[in-house]
Amino acid sequence: MPTCDRCGTSLAFNDETTKLVEYACTSCHATEIVWKESHRDTGTVTAAAASKTPLGAD
Ligand SMILES: [Zn+2]
Repeated sequence: MPTCDRCGTSLAFNDETTKLVEYACTSCHATEIVWKESHRDTGTVTAAAASKTPLGAD
């Protein structure tokens, strides 16, 4: 569990989607977004594959 950058309090789980996890500080109400590794990897692969696809190759 991450800690708050502002006050050092342990962040509480707030919300989660398929792309990210959101934590919230119970002391100062700051929020922190943590992107999931699987989402970033998928995006990288997709972008790389798309850029290597030649246009009008046939
Ligand atoms: Zn805080």
